[in-house]
Amino acid sequence: MTSRPAKIVMASGNAGKIRELARLLEVLDIEVVAQSEFGVDDADENGTTFRENSLIKAQHACDVTGLPAIADDSGLSVDALDGAPGVYSARYSGANANDARNNAKLLAELEQHDNRRAAFHCIATFVAPGETALVASGEWRGEILRELRGEGGFGYDPLFYVKDRDCSSAELEPEEKNARSHRGQALRKLVALIEQRYS
Ligand code: IMP
Repeated sequence: MTSRPAKIVMASGNAGKIRELARLLEVLDIEVVAQSEFGVDDADENGTTFRENSLIKAQHACDVTGLPAIADDSGLSVDALDGAPGVYSARYSGANANDARNNAKLLAELEQHDNRRAAFHCIATFVAPGETALVASGEWRGEILRELRGEGGFGYDPLFYVKDRDCSSAELEPEEKNARSHRGQALRKLVALIEQRYS
């Protein structure tokens, strides 16, 4: 049996994501440290799927630090845009992309569309030196609003309508978002796999 790690590196440079991941990993009772604290730079996300990019990021942090690492790759897929922005969600509005520009582009692209259906996707990966990777996924379906709502969350949250709560995901409390979100689903499954491996 492999021994339970004392520390796990969180392979992300996105502050909004790190906040959510840190909460979701609290149950593991293992110290989780952001990769920036080890001076790890962002990996080159040159995969074409969430799965590939998630593994690329976790492997990069593990290779640089020699410690186990967790990464998630996630994004928004919009039905009327044939799944775009998908793996390009963070870079949707081009070289100087940021959340505000990405949201503005999404609203413009969808202006003529009545079909507003969309889903957030997440693949979470755990990599430890010399061990096979553990992988888990999550999906959260919703609709794209016609204007921004709410101040919480990050990324496309102000445009993501959560029907059963009649609000955007930026209006949900962090616990409520984690309870439903693609990232929450994937991380809960990943935590269970990690517990199983080291129990
Ligand atoms: P990644 O860091 O390469 O996985 O990029 C994920 C991108 O997808 C983020 O920069 C956001 O634009 C979008 N995204 C992923 N998860 C969420 C979420 O929970 N809320 C809002 N946007 C998200």
